[in-house]
Amino acid sequence: MRLNINDSDQLDSPTDAEIRICIKELGPDQFLVLTLQEGCFVQTYHNADGSFELEYRQGEANRHYHLDSTRITVADVVRAFSLFLTQSEELAIAWDWQLLSFGPDVQLVDESTQPDRDSIVEYNGVLMSADWPQEIEDAQELRGYRMHGEPFDRVLHSVSDPIGKQDELCQECGVKIGQFHVPGCQQEDCPRCAGKLVQCSCEIDID
Ligand SMILES: [Zn+2]
Ligand SMILES: [Zn+2]
Repeated sequence: MRLNINDSDQLDSPTDAEIRICIKELGPDQFLVLTLQEGCFVQTYHNADGSFELEYRQGEANRHYHLDSTRITVADVVRAFSLFLTQSEELAIAWDWQLLSFGPDVQLVDESTQPDRDSIVEYNGVLMSADWPQEIEDAQELRGYRMHGEPFDRVLHSVSDPIGKQDELCQECGVKIGQFHVPGCQQEDCPRCAGKLVQCSCEIDID
């Protein structure tokens, strides 16, 4: 087991007490990840408003779960990390985990509107709302933008760390390396200034 403290510190073989302290001392906009092995972890993110995100993943990308941050407390986070540390099977049943998936529809689903199974499909090896694969495919047809009177080729989703995982999906829109992001994705680079397209001051010409 290894505890990653906001990418600034690592604790090997942390104890339950050490993890508890790390959670209690976690500042806003900081995260903790407790990893058993590649793809098998529990993680929390401390939101600026004081709430916590809680996720755990059991190997496959389609076994990546999360909880609604409005329904959990710091005590839940402490308990989830503690159960993961001992690899207790109770972790899977102690909360009403929801599958983490890509696409706008599924993320808006809450208890009152349970997703019907037909609205979720597997694509690029992960679960996403049924209409999202079409958005991804349509995005591949859009190869360039006209910006400030000049044509630019769109920037493909690529690995930030070339030694890293070659099959890494965009965490935002779910496309593979070498595919175009779905337009509007926060991760898409601007071909004109190399900033992030949704944040930079360049504009796409509308004709
Ligand atoms: Zn993307
Ligand atoms: Zn730009």
